[in-house]
Amino acid sequence: MEKLIITVALTGNVPTKEMNPNLPVTPDEIAYDVRRCADAGAVLFHVHARDAQLKPTLDIEVFKEIVRKIKEVAPEVIIQLSTGGRAGKDWEARSKPIRLCPEMASFTTGSNNLPGMVYENPPQLLEYMAKIFNETGVKPEIEVFEAGMINNALYLHKKGWIHPPFHFDFVLGAPGAMAGSVKNLQFLVDSIPPGSTWSVAGIGKMEIPLAVAAIVMGGHVRIGLEDNLYMPDGSLASNPALVEKIVRITREIGREIASPDEAREILSLPKENKDRILNMLDKVF
Ligand code: ZN
Repeated sequence: MEKLIITVALTGNVPTKEMNPNLPVTPDEIAYDVRRCADAGAVLFHVHARDAQLKPTLDIEVFKEIVRKIKEVAPEVIIQLSTGGRAGKDWEARSKPIRLCPEMASFTTGSNNLPGMVYENPPQLLEYMAKIFNETGVKPEIEVFEAGMINNALYLHKKGWIHPPFHFDFVLGAPGAMAGSVKNLQFLVDSIPPGSTWSVAGIGKMEIPLAVAAIVMGGHVRIGLEDNLYMPDGSLASNPALVEKIVRITREIGREIASPDEAREILSLPKENKDRILNMLDKVF
């Protein structure tokens, strides 16, 4: 079996320090958590930004600051910036993290319900963002909350805007979207084109169980406080503790953990794009 890629969704838009004091929110805290998670075996980091009031923000300057700090303490890891919509609805602002040219950026290819809101990703926005992925050569992580989002991604491919091999992340168990079951995961895995890679992000209680399923099925895992705030025993989680747990389980099963460069190989990330973002940090967007 391929070595396991461990992604950490460090912060997200919803959790607060009141919910879990281990949540990293400032650029310094995020970079510190990245270092500790990388030491524990994680290689890919899904990054959201917060403003000075710790509220979700799409301010590109905050993203730059976070990237600068991560590159200082963990130059080897893969950075994936979020283009998620909970920090704002402005298309241009949502796409700026792609224009910053990280190795990867997240890309949700459809709309669904989330608690108290519609997560809006209409066809016109998908087209707009897919073209920017095409222009910049940034690899999208296709976030799939519902099965139809796979078809939407394949449509964008047909139009020539996103290119295989694809990497899908199945976000399962979010209230309002597809439930977190192994049956659903298997169905989604069976629905993506051959040659694609995939990971699963189980929300809440399903984070560790679905990660275990993915480890056994040959997929990859996304864990972290964005998706779940607790350890399976009900105690408060931290990002490094979640990574340590996954590494332990993976080794017990006899699968190996991918290093950052092995993950780049598995995800077909061009080596020359590794530090492209450093040249962008002083640009005005
Ligand atoms: Zn996210």
